[in-house]
Amino acid sequence: MKFTPAKPALTGETLETLTARLAGRGEPAFRARQILEWVYKKRARSWDDMTNLPRPLRAWLGETFALLPAALVLNRQSADVTDKLLLELEDRSLIETVIIRVPQEGVGLEHSRKTICISTQVGCAMGCVFCASGLAGLKRDLAAGEIVAQLLQVCHLEDARTPRARAELASFDNIVVMGMGEPLANYDALLRALTIVNAEWGLGFGARRITISTSGLVPKIRRLADEAIGFRLAISLHGASDAVRERIMPVNKAYPLAQLLPAVREFHERHGRMVTLEFILIEDVNDSLEQADLLREIARDLHAHVNLIPYNAVEGLPWRRPSVLRQEEFARVVRTAGVSVTLRREKGHDIDAACGQLRLKTEKAAPGAPGGGAGS
Ligand code: SAH
Ligand code: SF4
Repeated sequence: MKFTPAKPALTGETLETLTARLAGRGEPAFRARQILEWVYKKRARSWDDMTNLPRPLRAWLGETFALLPAALVLNRQSADVTDKLLLELEDRSLIETVIIRVPQEGVGLEHSRKTICISTQVGCAMGCVFCASGLAGLKRDLAAGEIVAQLLQVCHLEDARTPRARAELASFDNIVVMGMGEPLANYDALLRALTIVNAEWGLGFGARRITISTSGLVPKIRRLADEAIGFRLAISLHGASDAVRERIMPVNKAYPLAQLLPAVREFHERHGRMVTLEFILIEDVNDSLEQADLLREIARDLHAHVNLIPYNAVEGLPWRRPSVLRQEEFARVVRTAGVSVTLRREKGHDIDAACGQLRLKTEKAAPGAPGGGAGS
């Protein structure tokens, strides 16, 4: 389903598109940069904050664009220093953005590693059986401006915490596109948003620190390999054979491993960066040592990093994570032969940081609530 907002979001404009719009009004060429500077560097919260713009231009901007198309409705902070931002869009859909802080040994919290996790769709159409985001199907794609707005909301939150200095997005270590939705199913909006996030006139965040996670849309992985900007790529593998993967990820029927793995190789060869293979460990589904053997061979062949993630239980779904002993044994088998492996102790467990769970709960708590009942 497509949603047409009353006004396009300013956060979805690139320097080129905004310059073209302003030229149509006879504005001088420097205005677009000035406006984007107000949005991304000076963090204007209203059109009237933009004091070096002529009043009529401010009025026109207000009539033409939405300044920020996502409003913060809830910020839940967990004991393990994860923030979960619930944002409401113009059509009252709910999306989420997560800040994960991983404290480093021997230094204060202000020196923790900080990652921002963003969403790209409301719901998801891919139907992975273990995932809360896909339970109600896809409601709609996010517009580029809504994807960028999530990061701007994180900036506003950080600004409020550091009243004297404006927090730079660059103080975050990574952005991961691992929230709700399949990013590559919303390819054009994703690329436009990440171009704005990366640009020096935008949020100025390095592409090498941005990871796109996909369930394996092969033609889109190949297209991403052709892009000039080298984002990092993570593949949600979750099964090291077609039989296991197909059981939990319907996408594997369209793009089995024989198609997926060569596309991953091509991406790696083009951009020269290690691809990450994500593997959530689900008891009695994909945690056998045969799967570990196969996963090691795949990772070795692709020179990929393996990220093992104990499954985060979803209310109403039967899947469980294996015992810690089993997780460690699985990791040990993959790690032989020099494959680089991390076994994630996930952050934010106590506030349901896994994909889609907060939104689902909020909607359940308020039946008939706006934004609820995602259906395609
Ligand atoms: N759609 C994309 C990105 C969003 S999902 C993708 O699938 O890659 C981000 C990651 O969270 C994926 O690896 C996904 O498989 C994983 N995930 C989903 N539900 C989970 C759960 N309950 N516990 C742990 N990881 C989960
Ligand atoms: Fe969609 Fe990713 Fe969840 Fe699969 S794991 S349903 S692709 S969000």
